[in-house]
Amino acid sequence: MQRVCIWMPLIPKIFSSTRAVRQTISRTCLNTVFPPCCDMCGADVEGTGGFCGECFAQMRPIIKPYCEQCGVPLAASGFADQQGVCAFCASTAPPWNRMRAAFIYDDWLRQLILPLKYADRTENARILAREMWRSGEDILRDANFLLPVPVHKRKLRHRRYNQAALLARFLAKESGVSSLPMALKRIRNTQPLARLGSRERKLEVEGSIIVSPRYVEKLKGHPVVVIDDVFTTGATMSACTRALLAAGVSRVDLLVAGRAGNMEEDRQKVTSALRDYA
Ligand SMILES: [Zn+2]
Ligand SMILES: [Zn+2]
Repeated sequence: MQRVCIWMPLIPKIFSSTRAVRQTISRTCLNTVFPPCCDMCGADVEGTGGFCGECFAQMRPIIKPYCEQCGVPLAASGFADQQGVCAFCASTAPPWNRMRAAFIYDDWLRQLILPLKYADRTENARILAREMWRSGEDILRDANFLLPVPVHKRKLRHRRYNQAALLARFLAKESGVSSLPMALKRIRNTQPLARLGSRERKLEVEGSIIVSPRYVEKLKGHPVVVIDDVFTTGATMSACTRALLAAGVSRVDLLVAGRAGNMEEDRQKVTSALRDYA
């Protein structure tokens, strides 16, 4: 007869609690050697890190109410329709389904994004992805693939990494959704869009992004989330979305770290579109 040890069921619990104790000890040791510091200014902080009180007070996260489709913050939920869409999107619907942005793209956020883009501060991607996960958890849970906005190979050679792909890699770890950094491809190097008007931006970006033929079958019929660092006028995101829909994905949602654009101007657009509605 096989003898069953009465302690057997407790063994996994003992091991898991031992592991928890070990983790706590190693975390305490690590915190003693490297005290946790603010992700923005480097000041000492309590606990496991994040932002210090001063930096936290200056950040402008985008919280509800916002438009489900373009992510613009709204003064009140009454500025959106029953689907949570602002009047501007209701009248000129963007091609994507939903959009989430963690922050307003202001001077505070530029301190994290510009060094990530231009000064090899790749660790900022982990910080931004953590905040993007908080803002976009619902759309990430609905997705089968994460697709970073591509950079042209010439720019990639110069910069050595794609900041959107780094964000997508960290978000893949958080969400368990696979990132496909090569699925979208920029086939034409576009000039910087910041100085162009919205119509010129659209013309400049149109046809510059495709779905890599190797990924078309893999993506067909799947919901995806396109990841980028900053959303400006939406010209690049529109180009990505149109290419993906043409390739047969079932839905495109967007997740970005910062939403640029003049928020007051956006609000006025919403208000005047509402007026047109009435
Ligand atoms: Zn700080
Ligand atoms: Zn909107």
